[in-house]
Amino acid sequence: MTNDSKEQFLPFSRPTISQEAIDEVVTCLKSGWITTGPRVKQFEEDLKNYLNAPYALCLTSATAGLHLALTALKLKPDDEVITTPMTFAATLNTIVLAGGTPVLVDVEPGTYNMDVTKIAKAVTKRTRAIMPVHFAGLPVDLDPLYDIAKKHNLRVIEDAAHAIGAEYKGKRIGSFGDIQVFSFHPNKNMTTGEGGCVVTRDEQLASEVALLRFHGMDREAWNRFGKTGSQHYEIIAPGYKYNMMDIQAALGLHQLKALDGFIKRRTDLALRYHAILKDWPQLTLTTSPSYDRLHAWHLYTPLVNPEKAGMDRNGFMAALKERNIGTGLHYRAAHLYPYYRENYGFKPGDFPNAEKISDRIVSLPLFPLMSNSDQDRVISAMKDVFK
Ligand SMILES: *Cc1c(COP(=O)(O)O)cnc(C)c1O
Repeated sequence: MTNDSKEQFLPFSRPTISQEAIDEVVTCLKSGWITTGPRVKQFEEDLKNYLNAPYALCLTSATAGLHLALTALKLKPDDEVITTPMTFAATLNTIVLAGGTPVLVDVEPGTYNMDVTKIAKAVTKRTRAIMPVHFAGLPVDLDPLYDIAKKHNLRVIEDAAHAIGAEYKGKRIGSFGDIQVFSFHPNKNMTTGEGGCVVTRDEQLASEVALLRFHGMDREAWNRFGKTGSQHYEIIAPGYKYNMMDIQAALGLHQLKALDGFIKRRTDLALRYHAILKDWPQLTLTTSPSYDRLHAWHLYTPLVNPEKAGMDRNGFMAALKERNIGTGLHYRAAHLYPYYRENYGFKPGDFPNAEKISDRIVSLPLFPLMSNSDQDRVISAMKDVFK
């Protein structure tokens, strides 16, 4: 066999970009306005509608969103933000960049989400905020988390990079609570190339983020250069350059329309993996929480059991790659990175559940354009690897 589908590399993720989205980008490019303008405005309106939220502020990335949401809290040195080690580096990095100190609690072994029963013990006089991460698009148990936040007067910044379209007890993530930050990176459930947004119900926080995302200017550029706007502006804070472009929003407008369909296809594939893999001793699958939720299935992340598999996770990833199957690693436990060990004294053994997951986790291919026969290729490659 020379040119059959087995010869093609199957990536762990790839975006679905419709012809309408491509046409919209071209129209935008030809329109004479390619940076922040009417398409970003429309995309923000559509996001507010979809999320039933009063404020949605588009940015260059979710990292920028986390950074600005944290900066708006005006943390003092030694102010603490409680989060999870089982996340992308940006979650901890932005706490540090905003002047705070990351404090971690371990995760649940089956969902990899922050164990909310451990938060109360981590709260100190210096705690200012809690930053849960909805891992793989599975909502964290937010009711008890918000109870703790309320009791101690803490802000909550949900790192919802994986979770657009997810629901907790019948409510969309982003439609309730304090602050949510979504990512539109190409691997995420919807994309603008690069991009992200901050969603909140707090008018003060929304205006702070709006100010900081564009130089600390009290007016947005397209108002200044439009027919009706004034050309004068004031700088009232030293801000950043985190504004989304209309070229990006052109993609986002169409991605958001397709999002629920994307999640449906991801769910079908994830449940099919579950049904096929559930009795494989070489893998441990994720578990479901008892509360009502809609999982956005951003990632499908079993653990590789080295004793049963006869290889470790890294060996498993290399063996699949040899068979033309891509995988991802989301994530190694963040507290074990050199910067966090050296500056915050974290060490192996601090968060045993996260560390066990960190050593064994792998992301199998999962994206809306993947066919059932693509998935069958992944399964048979894994059978071959384990035999
Ligand atoms: C992807 C991701 C981010 C950062 O998103 P960007 O848009 O790439 O900046 C932050 N947190 C988590 C958990 C992520 O997966």
